[in-house]
Amino acid sequence: GLVIEHVSKSFALKSGPLLVLDDISLTVEPGEFVAIVGGSGCGKSTLLRLLAGLDPDYQGRLLHDGVPIAGTGLQRGLVFQDHRLFPWLTVEQNVGLSFTNTSVPEQERRERVAAEIARVGLDGFADAYPHQLSGGMSQRAAIARALVGRPDVLLLDEPLGSLDALTRLRLQQELRRLWQDEGITMLMVTHDIDEAVYLADRIVVLEARPGRVRRIQPVPLPHPRQRGQAGFVAIRD
Ligand code: ATP
Ligand code: MG
Repeated sequence: GLVIEHVSKSFALKSGPLLVLDDISLTVEPGEFVAIVGGSGCGKSTLLRLLAGLDPDYQGRLLHDGVPIAGTGLQRGLVFQDHRLFPWLTVEQNVGLSFTNTSVPEQERRERVAAEIARVGLDGFADAYPHQLSGGMSQRAAIARALVGRPDVLLLDEPLGSLDALTRLRLQQELRRLWQDEGITMLMVTHDIDEAVYLADRIVVLEARPGRVRRIQPVPLPHPRQRGQAGFVAIRD
């Protein structure tokens, strides 16, 4: 699981420090699916970047299975808000990126890359370049890239935000299947409350309060989590 303990993060701007995360604490149990919601600019992507190990500059403690998070690692996959595929690399090369610095043998690397590409339904597109893919296909490739190192935590930053309703539903089902079949711990940022209710065990709100005090607060979920109950979720201050 993940432990976020009294984490604060500010950015140094010319006008002075911008406090984005103020004393955030949250524990995500192994195998849990947690959705994070919150207004634009409240620090959701910033938090996921810290958890992915992409930014070592913060106060507080971040643990993954009890071990301090330091640097990126295969054990946590991140799907960026804007997929971030490298335009000059094919789908196969993009997905294979996670392996460039590891000791996994070439043959096994290729097999795993092919397996992840197939899993997200992109077989036949391994040699395609990102500009030849639709938005949904790009997101699928980004998910495959995050999965290829067999992470036990998947950090998803609005992975389905820009997709049409049907593609979105299909990918939601894929994420759910992954979570159920592989027991991957999921931490997903979404703006879609219905999606959060459909997928997550728990929804937390990253609040932006006057005076830039930002807290994580739990939201009661209907139980058991079933589709069609989204209308009953109330989010309050
Ligand atoms: P959205 O829902 O729009 O994606 P978010 O909750 O993901 O928003 P972040 O991207 O985490 O928000 O940004 C939070 C705040 O931190 C914003 O005010 C943003 O301007 C600021 N910020 C983010 N990255 C940087 C950076 N590298 N340098 C300076 N400020 C930054
Ligand atoms: Mg964001």
